[in-house]
Amino acid sequence: MTVDLAITSQQIRQAVAALKKLRPAYADLLNFYEKIFMVQEDSKGQINLDPIEISTETLALKCKEKFSLIGISEFIVDQKAATALLKQLCQITETGNDEMADAARAIQNALASTRLNQKAVFAALLNTEDAYFQKIEKDMGIEKKALAFMAYNSIKPSLVHCAEQLASYLDADNPWDKGFCPVCGSAPGFSLFEDEGNRILFCGFCWHQWAAQRIYCPFCENQDSNSIHYYFSEQEKNYRIDVCDNCKTYLKAIDQRNTDRMIYPPLEFVASLHLDIKAQEMGFKSGIQLTLQ
Ligand SMILES: [Zn+2]
Ligand SMILES: [Zn+2]
Repeated sequence: MTVDLAITSQQIRQAVAALKKLRPAYADLLNFYEKIFMVQEDSKGQINLDPIEISTETLALKCKEKFSLIGISEFIVDQKAATALLKQLCQITETGNDEMADAARAIQNALASTRLNQKAVFAALLNTEDAYFQKIEKDMGIEKKALAFMAYNSIKPSLVHCAEQLASYLDADNPWDKGFCPVCGSAPGFSLFEDEGNRILFCGFCWHQWAAQRIYCPFCENQDSNSIHYYFSEQEKNYRIDVCDNCKTYLKAIDQRNTDRMIYPPLEFVASLHLDIKAQEMGFKSGIQLTLQ
């Protein structure tokens, strides 16, 4: 079974409203992300990209060696859709996120004056060129974390679109048993326990989902039940933090068995920042490679 990440605007509103009731302290953050997810869903419907082709020989080799189908630099981006989305995200951020409002204004000005080229920003993100973001920060005063956030969220509909297309190359008869994303090779960013107790991991970059063993650390492949634990609080039984003593890494999860509200994993991921703080206080580090979301 898989979790349907295609969601309507109405469902996003419902999911946000349910979470706001549970955690009023997150109201501003949830309002902000509600707008972001809505424009992203809208943008995703307009993506127009040729499929990424993988030859039979390459596919056979990737399958045999347990390599991901592509690396993140091989994702392709619908430039028109991503550019339009970047402008929308800047506007949403300018009014809806105090922390990044200045950066959103600066990005819009730099784009308008062509000092900043959005295509180059998207390419730098996919090539994980930290030096590029550092240079923009130094030359233009645009905080690199904010620029990476905007760039990632602008190309996310293209990433999800490509991941859905590429997933058709995966072998349904041989379930993926690695801890990294079979599509793009990134580490999982979030996980979910289904009603039947099955565990699903979501890629921290392209949001592809795959099933995983329950007692298994996706970051170091540890399967020893003595060194794999999870924590949850009595007040929030539907969230948990899975941790591994071997590599000292954690992964946040939502447990669908304890809730009947609508679950939209990208929203749960951002509405559980307190779990990141908790896990880090306990001495565990996040397994997400790119902290862009
Ligand atoms: Zn992925
Ligand atoms: Zn581990």
